[in-house]
Formats: sequence, C-alpha cells, structure tokens
Amino acid sequence: MTQFLSTPDVARIVHRLGLPLCLEQLAEAIRADYLRWPQFDKTARVAAHSQDGVIELMPIADAQSYSFKYVNGHPKNHRVGLPTVMAFGVLADVATGIPRLLSELTLSTALRTAATSALAARVLARPDSRCMALIGNGAQSEFQALAFHHLLGIQEIRLYDIDPAATDRLVRNLQSVPGLALRRCASIADAAQGADIVTTVTADKTNATILTPEMIQPGMHINGVGGDCPGKTELHRGVLEAARVFVEYEPQSRIEGDVQQMPADFPVTELWQVLSGQRPGRVRADEITVFDSVGFALEDFSTLRWLAHQATALGLGSSLDLVPVLSDPRNLFGELRHGVSDMRQAA
Ligand code: NAD
Repeated sequence: MTQFLSTPDVARIVHRLGLPLCLEQLAEAIRADYLRWPQFDKTARVAAHSQDGVIELMPIADAQSYSFKYVNGHPKNHRVGLPTVMAFGVLADVATGIPRLLSELTLSTALRTAATSALAARVLARPDSRCMALIGNGAQSEFQALAFHHLLGIQEIRLYDIDPAATDRLVRNLQSVPGLALRRCASIADAAQGADIVTTVTADKTNATILTPEMIQPGMHINGVGGDCPGKTELHRGVLEAARVFVEYEPQSRIEGDVQQMPADFPVTELWQVLSGQRPGRVRADEITVFDSVGFALEDFSTLRWLAHQATALGLGSSLDLVPVLSDPRNLFGELRHGVSDMRQAA
C-alpha cells in the first residue's frame, strides 16, 4: 500500500506542529541532505515549455530512496482561478521500486522553498540582518516572510507588489504575527531602501529587472526566488556582477537561474559547498551576496521523507491501492478478475 497525503493532510501536519517548527525541521532535513551531496544521483530537471508556462519533473535518488516532483509554473493562472505553482511528488524504494508515498507538494513546495531560502541566508546574510524587502506578495510570500522571521530574526518586512490586492492579502494573513512589523512601500526602490535582505519572488515569464544595481547597497543579501526558468529572470545582470553568487545545482541553475544571463565561466558557488565548510559563505560585512534559487530536487526529496515521517508519527494520511498487491506476483492478469468482483460486491 502507498501512503497518500492530501493537501488537507499536509495542512494538518503544519497545524499540529506549528509553522515555525515545520520550517525549522525542514531546513534541518534539507541541510542534512545537502551535507551528503556526493551520495545523490543528481540531474537537472526535465522541462516542457509552452507559451504561458512550464511543466517540470524533478528526479533524484540516493542508495535507498528515489523521489520525483511534478511541478508547473504558469504566471497567468490566477486569471483562471488557479495557482501559478502546483505540485505533487512520489517517494519510492530504490531496492524494489515500490512507491511508498504519494503526496501533495504545492503547500510543501512553499514550505521547503522558504526553508531553503532561510538556510542559505543563515550562511550568506549578515547575522545582524533585521529588515527584509519582499518584492512579489503572491502565494509563496507569506512562507518566505515567516521563514525569515522565525529562522533569521527578521523583525521588519518592507512589502511591494504591482498588484496592491496581493499586498493587502499578505498583510491580512500576517498582521497578527507578534514581533513582525509589515510596511507597505510605494516602489521596489522604496522597499529595498535600508533593507538588509531583499527577497524577490515575483512571477512573470519574461526577463524582468526587478532589482537594478542602483537599488542595492553594501552588505545586502539578495534571495532571488522567482527567476527560475529560461527567459524568466528578476535580477539585472549588474546586480550579479556586483555580488558573489550562490546556487543550488550549477548545471540546472546555469539554464534556469538568474545566472542564465551570464557567461558560462561566470563564477558561482554551490550551496552544499558552503554548508559543508568547503567554500566560504559571506566573508565580509560589506559584500553583496545573491542566492540564485531555482528549487532543486534534493529539497523535495528531504521534504517527502519529512512528510512521511511526520504523517506516520501523527497518524495522518491514508492508504492508496496505487500498485497491485498480488498473492502471486506474476498473476497480474488475475487482478482483473479481483477488480471486477470488488466492483460487483460494492454494487
Ligand atoms: P504568484 O503568481 O502567486 O505571485 C507572484 C506575485 O508577483 C504576484 O502577486 C504578482 O502581482 C507579483 N509580481 C509580478 N510581477 C511583479 C513585478 N514586476 N513587481 C512586483 N511584483 C510583481 O506566484 P508564487 O507562487 O508566489 O511564485 C512566485 C515565483 O516564485 C514564481 O516565479 C515561481 O515560479 C517561483 N518559485 C520559485 C521556487 C524556487 O524554489 N526557487 C519555488 C516556488 C516558486
């Protein structure tokens, strides 16, 4: 039987544990897996592009487990009442191939992306960072805000979105979080002014220039989340030239990240190298750092394993007849009769 976690099941896990603990545990699970980077069989994700969006498969495996995520990115989806990003994923045993878990990953992607952003910022942002600009106040934004508040001690968030209703929704959702001040700003430049960290999490299938060189200041950390597809970027190339740039998995980020704008020999550092102490993160208080996030399969692998563990511990989820359970594993044909007799009994 395959364990199945629906969106309400994942919401229940978050409700039972509390969002801060979930973000902290996910950040730790992702960190632990990044520390054993060489053990993973890695590949850049497989993307099917269309005029308004992309559908991607994100596979990864270690010696015990295999996972994949199905995820889309359609920035115009809100016009037809759908989220920009929707996802689900599978965790399977490498030894037999049996799928152990089928889970929603839309909520979980927002959680793991925010946890990964905070994990990177812990080694890349100035430790005294207290103020963050949050550009793009859509579906991912509250998760980003809360991860930086709870995991990094951000106390003030400066908000900007081209759609004022998006900022209204964020303020409504987070206005009662103790110790977190939310300030609406008139422009991106206004929001970035005086911020220690700038998170860009906009959605538009274009080479946007959300952040330009004149908006950045010495010591800033930029958490670039929305530039994650060929032809879909957020940072002016001058911002990248002024910074040390960190990525998740270089072969994928060169295609999808903001660094797609840069020559093939533009220097980048993979996050796992910093987490493992092989390469330095931030070395000076006044340097500019960029985490050019696109989302990597390892983060979903860690998340699926965490979800499976929590669901079992909390008694949540259900079982799914996703693959046949056969008394004679070679009598697959006999399963046709069982299926029909089950239907007759139900009728
Ligand atoms: P969303 O559509 O819910 O929200 C996007 C927001 O950006 C909207 O409120 C929109 O008005 C705003 N926006 C668009 N252009 C803007 C501009 N020029 N200036 C200011 N605001 C602007 O999307 P979402 O689910 O929040 O995702 C945001 C982005 O993050 C997407 O591009 C998505 O692909 C990306 N994403 C990345 C990762 C990762 O791991 N790096 C994970 C999930 C999502």
